[in-house]
Amino acid sequence: MSTETLRIVWIYPDLLSTYGDRGNMLILARRARQRGFPIEVLEVRSDQALPTTADIYLIGGGEDGPQALGAQRLLADGGLHRAVAQGSVVFGVCAGYQLLGTSFFAKGTQYRGLELLDLSSDRGETRAVGELAGDIDARLGVPPLTGFENHGGRTRLGPEVSPLARVTAGIGNDGATEGAWRGKLLGTYSHGPALARNPALADLLLRWATGAQQLPPLDDTWADRLRAERRAAVAAAARP
Ligand code: GLN
Repeated sequence: MSTETLRIVWIYPDLLSTYGDRGNMLILARRARQRGFPIEVLEVRSDQALPTTADIYLIGGGEDGPQALGAQRLLADGGLHRAVAQGSVVFGVCAGYQLLGTSFFAKGTQYRGLELLDLSSDRGETRAVGELAGDIDARLGVPPLTGFENHGGRTRLGPEVSPLARVTAGIGNDGATEGAWRGKLLGTYSHGPALARNPALADLLLRWATGAQQLPPLDDTWADRLRAERRAAVAAAARP
């Protein structure tokens, strides 16, 4: 943490907030407050300069047009690159995940990404819509991911990033892996919002941001119940 206060920035809610992305910000803020961290939450619109001193940056999902515009504005702004160089945490969902890579397609055109993660996204032949589940990289110490995906793009990972998860249901990047991470940057195709359904993922971001090895446990009964229910439903649907 750069100061006594944990600063969370939600990037461009006017462009990238298609699938309940506000929920990710609310979950992070609530879980930080419950652990006694003083927090400040900032929503930065696409016509505003991005502050460079926040601890966590959130970028949500979006349709092709807003995604391309958001990437262009972030490239022109340069603030996110400076924040990452200073060690900030970044969490990107779907469009917000794709634009962290080197390139992505929107409305049939290839756009330059922010080049913060070694990955690129192409057009898929079909749209990936439905349940998404996977076993998360064991180094992250987070239980299996459950979520919902809705995207046209497919993502190829380069050697400098690790997959966030191995897919057990749905498509994710390419039907085999889902999401990616490197250092304190993490992206996923999981909407939902992802952090409400996967509270341990929220705590991973908080641990990265605060430097805490562990955080006091919270009562996640409802989230755990929902995750168990969805995992059972996905397994039942997969049975012949
Ligand atoms: N426009 C991107 C795609 O379709 C991202 C979609 C999204 O954020 N849901 O692949």
